[in-house]
This record gives sequence, structure tokens and C-alpha cells, in this order.
Amino acid sequence: MDILVKGATIVTQNAKRETLKGDIFVSKGRIAKIGKNLKEKAEERIDASGKLVFPGFVNTHTHIAMTLFRGYGEGMMLQDWLTKKIWPAEAKLKPDDVYWGTMLGVAEMVRSGTTSFNEMYISGLEKIAQATEKGGIRASISLGMLDKVPGHDTSGEIGKTRHLIPKLKTRSGRVGAAVACHAPYTCSGELITKSKELARKEKLQFHIHASETRKEVFDILKETGKRPIEYLDSLGVLDQRTVLAHAVYVTKREIALAGKAKTSVSHNPVSNMKLAGGGVCPITEFAAAGANATLGTDGAASNNSLNMIETMKTASILQKNHYWDPLSLSAQLALDYATINGARALGIDAGSIEEGKLADLVFADLKAPNMAPAHDYVANIVYAMNPSNITDVMVDGKFVMRKGKITAFDEEKVVDKASAAAGALVGA
Ligand SMILES: [Zn+2]
Repeated sequence: MDILVKGATIVTQNAKRETLKGDIFVSKGRIAKIGKNLKEKAEERIDASGKLVFPGFVNTHTHIAMTLFRGYGEGMMLQDWLTKKIWPAEAKLKPDDVYWGTMLGVAEMVRSGTTSFNEMYISGLEKIAQATEKGGIRASISLGMLDKVPGHDTSGEIGKTRHLIPKLKTRSGRVGAAVACHAPYTCSGELITKSKELARKEKLQFHIHASETRKEVFDILKETGKRPIEYLDSLGVLDQRTVLAHAVYVTKREIALAGKAKTSVSHNPVSNMKLAGGGVCPITEFAAAGANATLGTDGAASNNSLNMIETMKTASILQKNHYWDPLSLSAQLALDYATINGARALGIDAGSIEEGKLADLVFADLKAPNMAPAHDYVANIVYAMNPSNITDVMVDGKFVMRKGKITAFDEEKVVDKASAAAGALVGA
């Protein structure tokens, strides 16, 4: 279907980072034309005067079905929380629970302007793919393999991923597989090396947690004589198709290695602070060294939301405060991390509003009190906007939300089903 969007204020994220007033013609899922007074024939014409239009956000690290554990086991020490609350509940997860947890996450993502996410999870991967396909957005989905844990072994894990790769690819092409190792402290060097080889062979992204906590850094140092990112470099996994999640406790040498390899780094400031990690990912230093800086929420069990607007703001003000430098991580850079850089990390031809790009567009109400005045549209998106300002979301040239209502699925049913599944899992 062709759609003509008229009279919008467009934060393009193009090479010049222009904000334009004009029209967008969407045809066959792509942005076919941008200009003033476009007269293209379209099945649908949208009056977007009073609307700010910007590219959909890309969340480069999450565990979407963990929306089921939002607010479960608050205020505990990390290890207690995992062993006493999260892992026992996750052990009871059935594929249908994962489906409804994912749908709940997709609803939250759509409402907060996210159109793509990079998922790593332990079970129900096919249900995550089905739910995302139904939800109308994009995802790169991977099994978080591990072999240093009883019940898991190297070849069995690789076998599971091999089996899943074709099953995670959906009909629309919006959803597909990636390859993931959970983390250097849960995976052997052999598993990490073989996984990356598989990802290279299949031309897929590779996703791994790295240097999230101090404990992990010292454990890996003791075991291998190297810090986690040095270790991953020695295993040959750093390249443009790898996403390192967290990268909090790192040395200048590790930053240089990730930068040289142009690896993507997913900074998850809200989860890191909520879990009291103590450190700050030097994401601006990674970017300066040549790495692809991106943002993620992590799962809703540790965030507790999947809100990329909050993540952009938190990332920006955290870097400023950490470096005692108000010039650090500007609103424009935070938006770059959440859009074009995120799309690059996942290998998606989106992240900016330019002719030829995929039509993943978010519309926000410029007439909302917190969006006025409009001195700086980008600063308003990053520091002032909230999900309730988002009125319409388009992915692949199709609306998944119109005039504040999700059109791709029954949102009320999703909230009820997910709440019921979550209650049963924790024995409520
Ligand atoms: Zn994570």
C-alpha cells in the first residue's frame, strides 16, 4: 500500500542531520520520496501537520519475554535475585508464556517508538519470532548459548542454534535469527569461537554480554589472563557484525580493540544503574575509538521498562555527569545511537528518513505541553518526550499504531494474557 504523509516536521537523521517540513511518500515498504507539496497517488493520505516524525528506535540489547518479571523481586542483591526469583520462575516458562511476554514487550515498544530489537533469550525462541511477526515490528533473535553450566554442552548448544536459524526467519522478512553466546563467564572459548564461525558462515549478527560487572572481569582475568574484551578479541569475535552488550568495566586497550574492529557496543544505562553495577560504560570513548555506539534497555526484569526514550536521556545525562562535561553525549548523539547506529548494528536498512530507506517511522504530537516550545526538536525527543506523545508508528510501510491505538493486535487481550501467565509463573 502507498501512503502519503503530508505537512510533517521531519527529523531526518540524514547525513546533515536536517529537520525538514514537508511530505513523505511511502511505497512498497520504503520511503520513496521526501519533499514539499508531493502529489503522488496513494491509497492513504495522512495529515501530519502538528506531528514530529522521526525514525523508529532500535533497541540493541534486550530479553523481551522478561516483561513477565517486571517488578518481581525488587530490592535484592543481584545473585539472590537471580537464584531465588528469576531462575526458578524462568525454569517454569512454557512457550505460550514466552509468546504473551513477547507480545506485552512489543506493545510497550510500539508505544515508546521502538521498531526493531536485538533479542537474546534461553527458551521459546520460535514464539518470540511469531509474536514479533504478529506485532508488526522487527527483531534479530538469538538463543543465549552457554556451556559452562550443567546440562549444557558445546556441540548441543551449537546444534540448537543451527536448528533454530531457519525457524526464526518469518514470512515478512522483518524477523530473523542471530547467533549469541550468553557471556564469557558462562561460555567456553570453544563455544564462543564456534558460534562466531557459525555466524560468519550464515552472515548473521553475533551477540554477547561482556564486562557487565567487576566480578566477571576479575573471574575472566583469573581464568584466561585477559580482560573480557581482550579475551573476545583473542578469540577473533570482534568485527562489524558483533554486538557487545554492557561493556561497563573496560580498559583503554579494550576500547581501542573494539574501536579498531568497528564492533557495536550496546550501552544499557538504566539496567546497569538499577542492578548497582557501580561503573559507567564509557560509550563516548568507544565511539571516539571507532566502535559503533548503540543503546539497549536490557530485559524489563532489570530495567523495568523497554523505553528507549528514557534510555537515550539516561545515557546522555549519565555520560555528562560521569565526565563532568555538559558537552559529552549530546541529544543529537543519543538519537544517533538509538536510530542510525542501532540499525547499522543489526544490519537493517533503516534508522534515518531518507529516500530508499525502509519506512520505519514514528509520529509524535507537537501540540503536547511537554513538546513545546520547539527550540530544539532533537532535544525535545531525547529529554522531554514520553511515550504518551507518540500517536502513530509505521514499520515496513505499514501502520502498527494509528491515532494512539495499536492496530496490529488486540492490546487489551495481550495485557490480560501476559498478566495471567506472569501470575502463574511466580505462583501468585
Ligand atoms: Zn542482558
